[in-house]
Amino acid sequence: MKKLIYSFAVVAFFLTACKNSSTTTATESTTPTEQPAAAVADANVTEVSISGDDQMKFDTDEITVKAGQQVRLTLVHTGKLPKEGMGHNWILLKDGVDLDEFAGEAMKAKDTDYVPASREGDIIAHTKVIGGGESTTIDFAAPAPGTYQFLCSFPGHSGMMRGHFIVE
Ligand code: ZN
Repeated sequence: MKKLIYSFAVVAFFLTACKNSSTTTATESTTPTEQPAAAVADANVTEVSISGDDQMKFDTDEITVKAGQQVRLTLVHTGKLPKEGMGHNWILLKDGVDLDEFAGEAMKAKDTDYVPASREGDIIAHTKVIGGGESTTIDFAAPAPGTYQFLCSFPGHSGMMRGHFIVE
């Protein structure tokens, strides 16, 4: 019981300490700087990240952004396997494009990172193919509000590696 009271005291001490330090920081940063302008520019950029692993899975099957935003998407490969065997990319398809049909074409396009030249008109944005331990970032404008589909077009992956990209 004594120990419990002691821990409460310690917690209370830390809470008080935190409160004090945050008050101090707030009063210190009242001087106007150039920063607000940069913050406004960044407010239009939504950063999202999605990762793929050696089990041929994305860590999420749904990404939501707001209309009118610039999207900065980072694809991370958290696995160890090389891109020749377990490569991942991220492709966002335009509304109405049949994902399975697209994937069927894409798997033949090894030379262009599984992005078929004949289907470029079906794509809103895409990353390159990466292997284990790598990551890649792309920027694109969020399309009109709606629900879109994304996939990894590496051969055999789109069955597992697909999801919805929602623009609100
Ligand atoms: Zn993949």
